[in-house]
Amino acid sequence: MGSTVYRTFKHTGKIVEDTVGAKCAEIEKIEAEIGEWEERLELIHTNAKKALGSVKAIAKPKVVAFCDCGAEIYEGAKFCGECFKKIEQEASPDSPVSQ
Ligand SMILES: [Zn+2]
Repeated sequence: MGSTVYRTFKHTGKIVEDTVGAKCAEIEKIEAEIGEWEERLELIHTNAKKALGSVKAIAKPKVVAFCDCGAEIYEGAKFCGECFKKIEQEASPDSPVSQ
């Protein structure tokens, strides 16, 4: 908006208050809209978090091995979640895993 005012000023030598007023009204309207959208976005985020929470509750990570300490080692884990021992997971995806 500033550049528009400046351009008008540069060409006409004056600041057109009508234009500025109209632009301000436009911006005010847009700001109100942004406020509305932010509220909607927040609602979406809240719903997404709820959805994610229920998904996580259902889809538990796959246990692929057990640590020496007896803790479950999940797929893709690099360290034991209990004793933080480094896990050497086999690179081959078709390695035998007893379920
Ligand atoms: Zn462990």
